[in-house]
Amino acid sequence: MQILSLKELKEHMELSEDESSFSEENSLPVLISDYVERLLNHEEIRRQFVPTKFENEDTLGFEDPQNEKNHSDLKRVIHRYENRVAIITSERCFSYCRHCFRRRLTGRNLEVISKKEIDEIAEYLKNHLEIKEALLTGGDLFTLSDERLEYLLGSFKNARKDIIFRLCTRALFTNPERFTDTLFKVLEKNSSGAPYYLMTQFNSAIEITEEAESILERFSSLRVPIMNQSVLLRDVNDSLEHQRELSEKLLRNRVKPYYLFQGDLVKGTRHLRVPLSRTLELEEEMRKNLSGLEMPEVMIDLPEGGGKLILSKCRFCKKEDGTWIFKSLDGRSIEYPEDL
Ligand code: SF4
Repeated sequence: MQILSLKELKEHMELSEDESSFSEENSLPVLISDYVERLLNHEEIRRQFVPTKFENEDTLGFEDPQNEKNHSDLKRVIHRYENRVAIITSERCFSYCRHCFRRRLTGRNLEVISKKEIDEIAEYLKNHLEIKEALLTGGDLFTLSDERLEYLLGSFKNARKDIIFRLCTRALFTNPERFTDTLFKVLEKNSSGAPYYLMTQFNSAIEITEEAESILERFSSLRVPIMNQSVLLRDVNDSLEHQRELSEKLLRNRVKPYYLFQGDLVKGTRHLRVPLSRTLELEEEMRKNLSGLEMPEVMIDLPEGGGKLILSKCRFCKKEDGTWIFKSLDGRSIEYPEDL
C-alpha cells in the first residue's frame, strides 16, 4: 500500500511517540511507496522514511547548505564546478527520504521540467563547451513520463553528443515498476554519443531487492556503468558491518560503491547525521577491512558551497570548542560543527 500522508501513515501502522508527534507543517511531506512500505519493519528503512518530531526540533541547520541557489544560471541548472552541471529535472520522488539534502525543493511544488525549460538548457549546453558531464537529478529523474524523458534526452544529445550524462535515481528501490520495456527503449533510442552512467542511491544492503537486482542486470547488459552514492546515516548504516554488507552486494550486482557522503548540515536532519569524529573512525575501519573495490570514497560536501572533498585527504584541525575547520577548494576556511 502506498502511503501518501502523515494521516495515512498513522492509520496504517503503530507509531512511536517521537514519530506520532511529527508535524508536516513546513517540512518534507510524507510519501512512502508500497515497495518501501513492505520493508518498514526493518529499522534501517523505517528511520529513512518515517519522520519523527526531531525533524521539527532541528532549527539550526541550513536550508541550502551547498549554496546551490547562488550557482544557478537557469532555474534548473546548478553550475558549481566548471566542467559539470546538475540539472534539476523534477521536484518529485517516489518516496521522500527524511535525510534529503534538497528538501527545500523536493515534494514542494511537484513540478517536472517543461519542454521550454529543456529547450533553454539544451541551448545552454551548446553555448558552454566547458561542460563535460551533466547530472540529471532532482528529485528523481525517472518521475518524468517516458514522453518527457525522451524529449529531454533527445534534445540534450542533439545539443551535445560528447557530454556524459549521469542518470541519478533512487527508484530502483523505491519504485522498480518504473523500469518498463518502454523506458529502456527510450534510453536505448537516445544512447548515441558519450555513454550514460547510472548513479544509484542504496544506503543499506536490504534496499537491493530482487527487483532492483533485475534492473541492475538489465542496465549492465546495455553496458551502462553503474555507481552507487550513499549517505552515512546514524543507526542506519554507520557500522563496518553495514558498509561491508552493502559493498559486497553492490559489487555482486556489478555496481561500484562510489561515494559515501557525510550528512549535509540540512535543517531537519540532525538526528540522522553521524558526528564527524565517528565518520573518520569508520572510514579508517573500512580502509583496514574492505578491498579497494569495496571501498567508497568517504566525502564531505562543505557548507557555504565549499564543494566536495574526500574526507581522508582534507586538511583540517579540531578546535577546542569542537568545530572542524576545512580549507575549501577555493581557499576559504569553512567550519563544520562536530554536532549541530
Ligand atoms: S530520492 Fe533523493 S531527492 Fe528524493 S527524497 Fe530521497 S534523497 Fe531526496
